[in-house]
Amino acid sequence: MSVSACQERKVRLPRRVRKRGDAVGGDTDEVGSEDFSGLCKSDLWRILVDVPPGDGCPWDDPPMLQRIEIGAVLSGVARLHNLHWERSVELSLDCFVCERQGRTMLLEWGAERAVCTADKQHGRHYAAARIAALDSTIEDQRLSLRAVVDYWWAPFHDAKRDVRGLPLTESPWVRLKFGYFCAQTEDSGNGSTQSNLVRPARTSCRHCGEAAATSTEAPTIRLLS
Ligand SMILES: [Zn+2]
Ligand SMILES: [Zn+2]
Repeated sequence: MSVSACQERKVRLPRRVRKRGDAVGGDTDEVGSEDFSGLCKSDLWRILVDVPPGDGCPWDDPPMLQRIEIGAVLSGVARLHNLHWERSVELSLDCFVCERQGRTMLLEWGAERAVCTADKQHGRHYAAARIAALDSTIEDQRLSLRAVVDYWWAPFHDAKRDVRGLPLTESPWVRLKFGYFCAQTEDSGNGSTQSNLVRPARTSCRHCGEAAATSTEAPTIRLLS
């Protein structure tokens, strides 16, 4: 493929996506808007087209916007501990900016970009990923979370591992944080649940010692597009 053909493919963005959720309130999840996602509108996607062409074209696949849905449940919630999800997600993704596989991305609800923890050589940097929707529900002492994450993927070669970066094909690692408030001591605390835990995993209140939350199932991840 010629360099010009490669450049042509790289600027084939953005593609139209449906927007989920209310970017301000975050409590709705209506699908059907014809709007572009925040990532498409932001300056970040220019990263994809600003890369100068080298000798030949290293990109075999076109860049793409991927959308994944994360689900998690905490059970055995003691009513005295007012459990709630924090509005952040940590997710392991291949990063085309630092060109490393499996980097931990830090995403905050409302932020239009994520932070890639990269590695010692590259240091932390912004990445083209965001939380598009975030819903939390509590029912029968089960606290559920549903988050939708959009992120840009572009082809790259991980020089350190000598492998190609790949678009998402299997469940990445994820960590979700939660907070609680102890009614007995009137003090707050926090905890987290993640993919690779021995379950059931219990989080005890650091003030009274009772169970504040129990995770019996690993978070689920589903590729939407
Ligand atoms: Zn990175
Ligand atoms: Zn307590």
